[in-house]
Amino acid sequence: MSGVSLRNVSKSYGNVTVIPDLSLDISEGEFVVFVGPSGCGKSTTLRMIAGLEKVTGGQISIAGRDVTWVRPKERDIAMVFQSYALYPHMNVADNMSFALRLARRPKDEINERVKVAAEMLELTPYLGRKPKDLSGGQRQRVAMGRSIVRDAYVFLFDEPLSNLDAKLRSSMRTELALLHKKLNRTMIYVTHDQIEAMTMADRIVIMKDGLIQQVGTPKDVYNTPVNTFVATFMGSPSMTLLPAELRDEGGRMHVAGAGFDLPVPARLNDAARGAAARSITLGLRPEHFAAEQRGENFAQLDLTVKVAEYIGSSQYLAADLGGQSITAAVEVGPESDLMTDGTYFFDTTRIYLFDQETGAAL
Ligand code: ADP
Ligand code: MG
Repeated sequence: MSGVSLRNVSKSYGNVTVIPDLSLDISEGEFVVFVGPSGCGKSTTLRMIAGLEKVTGGQISIAGRDVTWVRPKERDIAMVFQSYALYPHMNVADNMSFALRLARRPKDEINERVKVAAEMLELTPYLGRKPKDLSGGQRQRVAMGRSIVRDAYVFLFDEPLSNLDAKLRSSMRTELALLHKKLNRTMIYVTHDQIEAMTMADRIVIMKDGLIQQVGTPKDVYNTPVNTFVATFMGSPSMTLLPAELRDEGGRMHVAGAGFDLPVPARLNDAARGAAARSITLGLRPEHFAAEQRGENFAQLDLTVKVAEYIGSSQYLAADLGGQSITAAVEVGPESDLMTDGTYFFDTTRIYLFDQETGAAL
């Protein structure tokens, strides 16, 4: 099979197991983002794909070829790291062409590839400059350019935007997505930032403690998280989790706890009936709150607002619901003052339910 394939890959350092057993198929041309908290094994996995780290067990194939024991140079990969070192004495063009010159590619070919990569990365005006005369973002693009000129089968990125300021990070996200469209190559991107994952990925791989929690499109993992870890990791501000019980009210299930009693949405009604005897965790995403009644799906909730943060189009509320801390994000008009205690509304069609013991979604 083409693309990149990991079969029961494991990694231990001495008696410490970092990746217990990981399997994943990445299609050719796909942009896959590994996301998870620091230390969950993202870089280790990427480095095993690159061949910079030996696997303890399992098999890795790239473009249908078993590369498990193939040297990095022979895997047809290009890698961009968070900390990149450009050659300070070389200008942008020479930095970008370094690998090609080392490989003794013909001069015409080198020039052409640097030209194309520079145009793609909008570095053409800077080809003659030294790294010290570039901004941080331009330097990062040169580091990317060094990989792109080589036109590998797979591009591997390990948190390449972490050192950039917020505005540049956001524009580089767009550029990377564009680059993926133009190059049409398989890309595997590692980050701890769920926004990067959501904005760039065709598919997201969410990891925790060396284990894949969920693989899916940004839409999948946001709308149907498999457990409380994924539910709270993806989405900003984070989903609020509240202890709750289920109750059958003439066939319609209700989820109730301190300060709330909400009808379970139709899509979850059967699952909720099956779980009626168990303790439940209710998940409420902040963005599904509203400051005004918006329709029959919206249930009233009385909130004590501790802090209201003005974001512009909305306000983030750190509030108290029946003695528990919750977060709400409500849209407000330009004339609105900061929100205070009162009745708010929640879209009950957007309710999430999890088994309290296992954290698994119902
Ligand atoms: P991430 O990139 O997700 O932040 P890493 O893949 O770098 O995480 O690390 C995963 C785990 O493996 C961490 O707990 C880290 O301490 C451990 N680890 C990484 N490299 C080594 C090593 N050379 N020896 C021992 N433990 C390591
Ligand atoms: Mg890392």
